[in-house]
Amino acid sequence: MNIPRSSFPRVVIVGGGFAGVAMAKELSGKEVQVVLIDKNNYHTFQPLLYQVSTGGLEPDSIAYPIRKILQDYPNFYFRMAELQQVLTESNELVTNLGMLAYDHLVIAVGSETNFFGNDEIEQNGMAMKSIPQSLNLRSMILENFEQALLTDDLHERDALMNFVIVGGGPTGVELAGALAEIKKGILPKDYPDLDTRRAQINLIQSGDRILKEMSEKASKKAEDFLEGLGVQIWKETRVTGYDGKKVTTKTDLKFDAATLIWAAGVKGVSVKGLDFENIVRPGNRLKVNEFNQVEGYTNVYAIGDIACMENDDTPRGHPMMAQPAIQQGRHLGENIVRALDKKPFKPFEYKDKGSMATIGRNKAVVDLKNYRFQGVFAWFVWMFVHLFFLIGFRNRIVVFVNWVYNYVRFDREARLIIRPYQRDYSQFKDSDTA
Ligand SMILES: Cc1cc2nc3c(=O)[nH]c(=O)nc-3n(C[C@H](O)[C@H](O)[C@H](O)COP(=O)(O)OP(=O)(O)OC[C@H]3O[C@@H](n4cnc5c(N)ncnc54)[C@H](O)[C@@H]3O)c2cc1C
Repeated sequence: MNIPRSSFPRVVIVGGGFAGVAMAKELSGKEVQVVLIDKNNYHTFQPLLYQVSTGGLEPDSIAYPIRKILQDYPNFYFRMAELQQVLTESNELVTNLGMLAYDHLVIAVGSETNFFGNDEIEQNGMAMKSIPQSLNLRSMILENFEQALLTDDLHERDALMNFVIVGGGPTGVELAGALAEIKKGILPKDYPDLDTRRAQINLIQSGDRILKEMSEKASKKAEDFLEGLGVQIWKETRVTGYDGKKVTTKTDLKFDAATLIWAAGVKGVSVKGLDFENIVRPGNRLKVNEFNQVEGYTNVYAIGDIACMENDDTPRGHPMMAQPAIQQGRHLGENIVRALDKKPFKPFEYKDKGSMATIGRNKAVVDLKNYRFQGVFAWFVWMFVHLFFLIGFRNRIVVFVNWVYNYVRFDREARLIIRPYQRDYSQFKDSDTA
């Protein structure tokens, strides 16, 4: 990788997401050499992916070059490389660019969509975990409507305009709300020769309420908001299959739908070379102690979504969300500095800052530790928090201007099929149910 050794210990961070970037920033100017590798050259702000998928934002406004984030930091190297395996005996990484030696290894590779072993859904459904996936989804949603115009078969047309979202967590809820707003405000103008009132947005949740990690009040309010927008919510319904055309569930309920969006779970990205027998926890996460050290190793750490720190407060690990990732990244950075000063590590303590979700224009739910609120004020809080955590001044301005523009104009102008999503539309020709 052509990175010179310095007299400082080398900390290799794998992954430039929330956790990896927070840690690299914490180590800036300290007596360590930091090498950050990521398979992409950009950081992705995942909470706004759904707005890219639904044409509300351009992808560039939620991505940021990793080199730019860290360009002023001394002793810092970035390589756009993919981790393939960890060789813990020799303290080296195998990457697609070659070998990389480390003194301390920090695994911050995040998570990927969990299809729970259902290959059929994985093959035919759409995931939304990265910018390319969001662009695929954006193209496919728009192509479906273009295709719906071309048929006079009502069943086929309905299937093309039927969206099934699986998973009633924040991602599913936010996506459902955005699609409902498109149906109401944009489709009738864009497709005057199509009866877009027949478009359906179905949100399917296996449990008895949506947003189950939030308060009951937030769940109920989110449900009311979604139903008010015309979203059909199906609770206690487990999706069992999707052949690209028909969605099947554990009950008799079936949907003919050209689009199934899978937002029902994530699992840690697999890392080869670690002693998996002992460290992998449910959700494919790495078991770490209170210092984020991966069980069985002293110089291998995991932070963010990939890390599972089990304790009395978090028996199943911290939520796979941005705040635990950022806080663990900062904390581990501080601990590495403490170790340089020959001081003992301090245990990680998570400060829960609450959670929130937006359902659409003027509608959001916010649960803070001692305060819960919903509606317009919650929506402003949601926007402010997302702008605050977005990386890059330009991105904040662009996103803010887009939101104001979209709000005033009731519009989403990024509804572009730049990179068509290739699919075989002939399969909808013989749809038999609506
Ligand atoms: C659609 C969506 C909406 C979300 N909404 C919210 C929200 O509203 N609020 C909230 O708190 N959280 C939200 N989250 C969750 C939040 O984004 C994650 O918890 C957070 O990104 C985890 O940070 P991380 O640093 O652990 O991983 P990530 O941010 O995923 O970063 C991992 C990095 O590792 C890189 N990488 C992966 N594998 C390799 C490899 N083999 N080699 C090199 N690099 C690799 C990736 O390219 C990526 O840059 C959402 C997630 C999604 C998908």
